[in-house]
Order: sequence, then C-alpha cells, then structure tokens
Amino acid sequence: METKRPVRVEVTWGHADDEQLLRRAVATALGTGLDQVVESRVCPACGASDHGRPVVRLAGPAPSPRAGHVSLSRHDDVAVVAWCEDAAVGVDVDGPGREGWVQHEARGKCAGSGITAPPPEHLVARSLTTPPGCVAAVAVDTDGPWEVVVR
Ligand SMILES: [Zn+2]
Repeated sequence: METKRPVRVEVTWGHADDEQLLRRAVATALGTGLDQVVESRVCPACGASDHGRPVVRLAGPAPSPRAGHVSLSRHDDVAVVAWCEDAAVGVDVDGPGREGWVQHEARGKCAGSGITAPPPEHLVARSLTTPPGCVAAVAVDTDGPWEVVVR
C-alpha cells in the first residue's frame, strides 16, 4: 500500500528589516542560489503588482516556473516566511494574546481571501513556536497530512 507523503511547509524566522529574508528562505528550501529566486507581488483583489501577496519564480525568461508558494508576515522586529512547494500557504505573526487572530489570518492568507471572506472549512491553522513576545500560526491548502519544518 502506498503511503501518501505529507505536504511539507518550511518556516523561516528572521528580522523584519531583512529585505532578502523571503527570497533567501525560498532559495534555501529549493537548494538554489539567491539570484535564482525572483520575488513579485500580486494582489488577489485587483491584480496589481505593487501590493498584495508575494509570488516567487525562478529566474529566467518569462514565463519562468513558479518556485512554490510563499507567505510572509511581520510583527515588530520579527519576520516569518512560510514556503510550500505543493500548495498555497499562509502565515501570520502578531503580539501576545492574538492566538485566535493569527490562526484566522493564516487561514485567510492561505485561501487568498484576506480577512473579508471566511476561509474554506478544510483549512486548519497550526500554532508555531515563536521567538519571545509573539504568537504565530501557519496554514496550508491541503486536506491530507502536512508537516511543518522550522529552519
Ligand atoms: Zn489590490
């Protein structure tokens, strides 16, 4: 009998002022160079490219392949990146006492619905172990088993 491999979510913590954190997390996950990862933005609401959720692609002539799915969140001087090769992912970090909020945000960011529409029922967020002074959660768009690896 074939056992289904769990979907793997890689979580990377860093500093909020680290502009390369997202690309570096993706490059590390893919085992490639930083210059091979191109970051852009796409707004799920209006399609604009100057704001919205981050999208990562491999460097090269367009249309270059998507380098998995990524989500980024910041709180004070802390930043967290979640990356998943196979499925959409959402991560959120906030201050103490905001456990319910980060779970909700992680699911919303994963679904691309933001905070206005309720995320699909099958999206379940998990709490993350965080640096001191914050709480965080991550969600991934799968109805099968999934695992979180913290780098
Ligand atoms: Zn927009």
